[in-house]
Amino acid sequence: MSEFFTEDLLQWYRHEKRDLPWRRTDDPYKIWISEIMLQQTRVDTVIPYYNRFVDVFPTVHDLADAGQQQVLKLWEGLGYYSRGRNLHQAAKTVVSDFDGVLPATHDEISKLKGVGPYTSAAILSIAFQKPYAVVDGNVIRVLTRYFGIKEDIRSSKVKNRVQELADELISPDSPGDYNQAVMELGAMVCTPKNPDCNKCPVSSGCVAYNSAQTDIIPYKSPAKKIPHHQIAVGLIVNGNSELLIALRPNNVMLGGLWEFPGGKSQSGESLHQTVTRELNEELGVEVEVFEKYRQLKHAYSHFKITLHAYWCRITEGDPQPRSSMELKWVTLNEIDDYPFPKANKTLIEGLQSLNDSELKRFLV
Ligand code: SF4
Repeated sequence: MSEFFTEDLLQWYRHEKRDLPWRRTDDPYKIWISEIMLQQTRVDTVIPYYNRFVDVFPTVHDLADAGQQQVLKLWEGLGYYSRGRNLHQAAKTVVSDFDGVLPATHDEISKLKGVGPYTSAAILSIAFQKPYAVVDGNVIRVLTRYFGIKEDIRSSKVKNRVQELADELISPDSPGDYNQAVMELGAMVCTPKNPDCNKCPVSSGCVAYNSAQTDIIPYKSPAKKIPHHQIAVGLIVNGNSELLIALRPNNVMLGGLWEFPGGKSQSGESLHQTVTRELNEELGVEVEVFEKYRQLKHAYSHFKITLHAYWCRITEGDPQPRSSMELKWVTLNEIDDYPFPKANKTLIEGLQSLNDSELKRFLV
């Protein structure tokens, strides 16, 4: 039943594919950028980021020559910032070790920072027409439905089986189009809820469709409960209406981005105690903690946070970057030049609407 799958799918893709900016180029560098940005991120979100990025860095040399802060500023809001840092590092490697030409072999490309099995298969097939099949959430959904695989898609047995099927189905003549076609089908037709099977080019051979099981395949065992952390940060203003910000180390989550100093609340601790302890540990200062300015929620892939921002005043000591790479006092105009995680951005926008006396009200 699968002999027509590849052919029917490719024919459909060539007529129905979306016109996306990275589909208008055959430049391996730009295809690489798009694949990194598309990891865990929706196409609509990626488009403006991709366009800005390739505008500012049209070649791998431009990216390799840039500063990390410039790269992260362009990545700001896209999330998963290690992707931006790794891409930047990998661009430097391409320039230094490969004469500025993205390598076209599996072994070489897989050694670049941030290029895992999925991304190497995507780049090799789309940019270099090599028959490496990609497997992502869309491919797993399409193939488990098509072949009627009812076991848990979190299991490595199912993931391996899907990879085997994808390797068998890939078109040796058009591997890049094939990979994009399965993913396009998963994104546009074979959607998680209510797949549009009437418009599907492979419905005649699809087990889930023909046995009315599209609502139970793919099967996913229940997820573990996502932890929820309470984060308390300090808003410290000086006499020049500048706020104190800290640069996160490169080797931690959100590394290379700026933040207001603070951290995770420990069990049994009040939020006031958290701010006091964190600012002492991070900056080596004693602070007086005043009222809460704002609290907001944010969800990351593996946990959620509620961020509590407190007005604070330093009562003893000069701030030192004890756990950050650098500290800076910045005005609310200058702050826009620094890349921040998304949760902090909302806070900053609120702060920018305050007048000077509101900003300095705890500065006695
Ligand atoms: S027929 Fe329906 S369930 Fe089967 S692959 Fe097509 S869209 Fe998915």
